[in-house]
Amino acid sequence: MEYLNKNITDSFGREHDYLRISLTERCNLRCFYCMPAEGIPLRPRSEFMKKNEVVDIAKTFVDLGVKKIRLTGGEPLVRNDAKEIIEALSLLPVELAITTNGILVDKFINTFTSVGLKSVNVSLDSLQREKLNTITRRNYFDSIMSNIQLLIKQNFHVKLNAVIMRGVNDDEVIDFIEFTKENNVHFRFIEFMPFDGNKWNWKKGVSYKEMMTVINSSYFDKVQRIEDGKNDTSKNYKIEGYNGTFAVISSVTNPFCDSCNRLRLTADGKLKNCLFSNSETDLLSSLRHGENIRPLILESVWNKKARRGGMDTLAQFSNPTEHSKNRSMLAIGG
Ligand code: SAM
Ligand code: SF4
Repeated sequence: MEYLNKNITDSFGREHDYLRISLTERCNLRCFYCMPAEGIPLRPRSEFMKKNEVVDIAKTFVDLGVKKIRLTGGEPLVRNDAKEIIEALSLLPVELAITTNGILVDKFINTFTSVGLKSVNVSLDSLQREKLNTITRRNYFDSIMSNIQLLIKQNFHVKLNAVIMRGVNDDEVIDFIEFTKENNVHFRFIEFMPFDGNKWNWKKGVSYKEMMTVINSSYFDKVQRIEDGKNDTSKNYKIEGYNGTFAVISSVTNPFCDSCNRLRLTADGKLKNCLFSNSETDLLSSLRHGENIRPLILESVWNKKARRGGMDTLAQFSNPTEHSKNRSMLAIGG
């Protein structure tokens, strides 16, 4: 079989060296576009990866060429053994990063520093207290904002993620960019994506093009395009003279599949070869049966579809029966 001769490469020649590991499906927020108000049904702990299993699976990926691991969730920092997992993974020869809602960052910042974790992505969908608390259905505005300042002061590489939704926070795009004037952060505006249960409708979304029209008409020639990294999922910009930068992640209107290098491991140990793929490979059960998971990983990556898990067109992407076959974002690990 052809894939067995390859490293972690798919049939289109894309090399995969970036793994996102979801540590949990649980979360201390209930962002309405991600999580139902009542939370998600709790499943027995035994169905999820234990610390040693996370590390064993991660090691196999590193042996196969993975160079960067990002921890995500749910909220990765609500896990009781998050500190131990971060410490164990930091011993692997990878760049370690994390995506968090920011609430618990002050409790973990010494761990981040001591293991050399430098890149922290924090979700921030509004700069307004009431609005953020409405979107997240919880009241953590102050701790999130002070933890973002803590990360900035301690010179972390901070990316802020805002899902831009019509009539919700699309009026704040300029405020988000103004936040980059004094603060050295990379603010990323994410097009609203469809997942199981999030009542997606593209009418609620705001496109890359539409965002740039608003931005260009506010800043004119002060908008500077900056170079995108090799596997960047975002189109990167800066306002002349500002400390920080901003970007748009256009997964809906302008997907970045051609240069995709990422894989996802869910908290229950399933490999997803694409954020939008409906199929999964159960690595955890095989690991528990003492089987070699390498061939499973290679086969799964080899079978990766060219674009968005096979949803090539916006029409397919907009079809609820297509994305309801997929998990919700927090069960995938965003
Ligand atoms: N709890 C952490 C956080 O909020 O950053 C990590 C997990 S969260 C699922 C990861 C990212 O996915 C967040 O930036 C969130 O805004 C984004 N996200 C969740 N649902 C989304 C959707 N439907 N469309 C676009 N982005 C989404
Ligand atoms: Fe939790 Fe992150 Fe989903 Fe918000 S986006 S509900 S913080 S997992």
